[in-house]
Amino acid sequence: MTLDRLVHALDGVTVITDPNVVRVKSKDFYWYSPVLRRKLDDKCAEIVVCPRSEEEVVRVARACVAAKVPLTVRGAGTGNYGQAVPLEGGVILDMTVMKAVRWIRPGMARVEAGMKLVELDAEARRQGWEIRMFPSTKRTATVGGFIGGGSGGVGSITYGQLRDRGNVHAARVVTMEDEPRVLELRGDDVQKVNHAYGTNGIITELEIPLGPTYPWIDSVVVFGDFMDAARFAQILGESDGIVKKLITPMAWPVTTYFKRLAGIPPGVHSVITMIAEPSLETFDALVAAHGATVVHRAPSDDFGRTPPLYEYTWNHTTLHAIKIDPSLTYLQCGYPPGRNLELIEHMYRHWGDEVMMHLEFIRVGGKVTCSGLPLVRFSTEARLEEIIHYHEEYGVGIANPHTYILEDGGRKVVNREQLDFKRAVDPHGLLNPGKMRAWFEGVR
Ligand SMILES: Cc1cc2nc3c(=O)[nH]c(=O)nc-3n(C[C@H](O)[C@H](O)[C@H](O)COP(=O)(O)OP(=O)(O)OC[C@H]3O[C@@H](n4cnc5c(N)ncnc54)[C@H](O)[C@@H]3O)c2cc1C
Repeated sequence: MTLDRLVHALDGVTVITDPNVVRVKSKDFYWYSPVLRRKLDDKCAEIVVCPRSEEEVVRVARACVAAKVPLTVRGAGTGNYGQAVPLEGGVILDMTVMKAVRWIRPGMARVEAGMKLVELDAEARRQGWEIRMFPSTKRTATVGGFIGGGSGGVGSITYGQLRDRGNVHAARVVTMEDEPRVLELRGDDVQKVNHAYGTNGIITELEIPLGPTYPWIDSVVVFGDFMDAARFAQILGESDGIVKKLITPMAWPVTTYFKRLAGIPPGVHSVITMIAEPSLETFDALVAAHGATVVHRAPSDDFGRTPPLYEYTWNHTTLHAIKIDPSLTYLQCGYPPGRNLELIEHMYRHWGDEVMMHLEFIRVGGKVTCSGLPLVRFSTEARLEEIIHYHEEYGVGIANPHTYILEDGGRKVVNREQLDFKRAVDPHGLLNPGKMRAWFEGVR
């Protein structure tokens, strides 16, 4: 009955009630995790609403508040932790129709949140600019979903992560109050909604910084020893004169899961890179100095039929592996700058084949280090916990990808700023309920 009234109030807005579509739009890529599969497989919204404009978003927010119906915002649904899975039914707000470019100026773009990252990049490139950082899901993910649920990716070796100051310039947000407001968050205020899983506002527009565009060249460089590959990655990361977007070491046998990527000899350890064409000569000299060999090279092409190499990196690595062996899962590790190589060597030797090394080099606080996204041979949830604790005891942070709770995944502490903002803009707790622990546990 409540839903009937809600749908009636949304007359003129696109509402989908087909149960098959609603079921599909209630899912993301949480199924990477056997733990999340158990917890989320049966979760489903009741309707999907597809606004065309901010005005329609305001109408949906007002109607949901009046009916006290939960609302979960969705971009492309490529998140890995069930961020976009509605725990308490209600409405899925599908933002993908809202994809207008407001403007592109030197070094900055303003777009609607439902725009795909690949489309924004293509638009910017026409004017000599490109997005500075993107997830390996660039070809499907939305700008709003990246800010709402992502953390960084291709480009983070130069620009750091999304949470770093300057990587999101401004956000326009619709609130979930009895009379919804439209707020413009600028500068540091953007952190209120950055990586908040859509729990404290519906982002309708974003200002995203751009970098100068380059022709990018994909390479796979191979080594006989994994630690040589890791040391090469560190030195390449610290070579500030080489313009680069991606440095991804992978221990054998991780690349054996890449069925469409030919030419990697058996038994070798690989580093996948994206280097700006003008830096290639210097890069090749560095490769030669390390006694390594380039076994694959091609322009990085987002629009061709062959996937760009970045679609083998970040969480695509996990995707390729799980497709071949569904018993595999993964972890997300944060190696502290300065100690990363030492800790990588320890973990590599300690776990052997049970935790297969996959690293992504990034800048953290201006220093070059790496994230680990190792493939894990899953046996039991207890064993997975053991592996997590072992890493943490040694000082390797774990952003646990086996939880949909905001705080438990990343920082492990209450984010006061995001909690206070939620109190102000979502007083009835209707936005993506069940995801922010501090809210549902009533932290004061
Ligand atoms: C194969 C694979 C590779 C990946 N690689 C990376 C990677 O390299 N780096 C990385 O950071 N992530 C990665 N991810 C995770 C995910 O793809 C990215 O974070 C992506 O940017 C999410 O965008 P989306 O449009 O799919 O968002 P969704 O999954 O739809 O949403 C993500 C979260 O943001 C919220 N949200 C969406 N839109 C809005 C909005 N307009 N307002 C407020 N909240 C909103 C949702 O409620 C949800 O909580 C990967 C995932 C997969 C499956």
